[in-house]
Amino acid sequence: MSKSSPRYHITTFGCQMNKADSERMAGILEEMGFEWSEDPNQASVILYNTCTIRDNAEQKVYSYLGKQAKRKQVEPNLTLIVAGCVAQQEGEKLLRRVPELDLVMGPQHANQLKNLLEQVFEGNQVVATEAIQIVEDITKPRRESKVSAWVNVIYGCNERCTYCVVPNVRGVEQSRTPEAIRREIEQLAEQGYKEITLLGQNIDAYGRDLPGTTPTGRHLHTLTDLLYYIHDVPGIERIRFATSHPRYFTERLIRACQELPKVCEHFHIPFQSGDNEILKAMARGYTQQKYRQIIEKIREYMPDAAISADAIAGFPGETEAQFQNTLQLVADIGFDQVNTAAYSPRPGTPAALLANQVSEAEKSDRLQRLNHLVALVASQRRERYLGRIEEVLVEETNPKNTNQVMGRTRGNCLTFFDGDIESLKGKLVKVKIKETRAFSLTGVQLD
Ligand code: SF4
Repeated sequence: MSKSSPRYHITTFGCQMNKADSERMAGILEEMGFEWSEDPNQASVILYNTCTIRDNAEQKVYSYLGKQAKRKQVEPNLTLIVAGCVAQQEGEKLLRRVPELDLVMGPQHANQLKNLLEQVFEGNQVVATEAIQIVEDITKPRRESKVSAWVNVIYGCNERCTYCVVPNVRGVEQSRTPEAIRREIEQLAEQGYKEITLLGQNIDAYGRDLPGTTPTGRHLHTLTDLLYYIHDVPGIERIRFATSHPRYFTERLIRACQELPKVCEHFHIPFQSGDNEILKAMARGYTQQKYRQIIEKIREYMPDAAISADAIAGFPGETEAQFQNTLQLVADIGFDQVNTAAYSPRPGTPAALLANQVSEAEKSDRLQRLNHLVALVASQRRERYLGRIEEVLVEETNPKNTNQVMGRTRGNCLTFFDGDIESLKGKLVKVKIKETRAFSLTGVQLD
């Protein structure tokens, strides 16, 4: 592309779904002739793909936006876009708050970026937040990694977890057809990708909205069936999926993961709280006992499987004793990794309206104690790798030590070893583990 190509910049906040959307939107911008700019100040189209889950992410968006809005006063051709969950939730209010904005678009509109931008270039200020039917997307994402790619399989969520804005902002569940998913994976394999992660807010819901049932009344298309259907795509070496919901997680799925050699032994299953009362108040639809049973079942089939989760500290009404139940669950299960957050009320969610909010000081104290335990448990758990030979899929140079490359084990643990990225990128390498830390490993290459 020539030096004079217009440039774009995207800053992404939040979850993997947002990252996947950003990649798709980057793909669209590149097809429109824009070139990536790391520095937003060099870009003429700036897109903030936002997240409402964490308060500070929302505030950061406003502060970034404020700077660019000032820039726009002297560079009127600058195009400013807010996409994602804040856009969906705030809609036109955002335009009133930041009148310099050109486009406010909800996550369901990511595939429509080209049309929306064309309206902007014609001089309109556009808000696209109404619910739409997601048609099969033909856009080519610009993938961040050249080795590992995300593949959306289901959009939206029909659950009603009381702390979560996703159902409001991402709409009802809409599964892609197995054929379309397989086609995308085949294309990714042709482009040289080695690993794919199937994505959905509640991936266990995959296929519920697609037609057809088996003679026993089971949905014809489930996540398990999808894994069998896409498993043999040549060139793809590893398959992962996220995010699992304990309410819908099945033994059939566990069996498929054990049977299918490309599916990695890593399960990301958020538990959110280890206390049944709190789980009920969250409307999660399972008990901590049921959660434990799922993990036991996984370990029956795959004793070494890596288990990760998400957890919230300080949900409204959570007592110290209830919080202790969360700590107990973390200690008992022995997680490889837990993403933690202090509860933060999101507008429009039932939990935000509860009167019994936990104080900020208490939430942050609980979060700290939880993080401390998570790191302790993870580092104990990581020790099992010491001296073992692990298969690492090499992705990048270690940014902190350029003599090293980094990649992930099948259990999704970041692993470093000495090597040259030119010859190793995208390769599966046997690595003997010499050092373990809470969330990463170091080793030496064997072959
Ligand atoms: S399952 Fe619950 S937490 Fe996850 S996206 Fe749906 S409503 Fe939100």
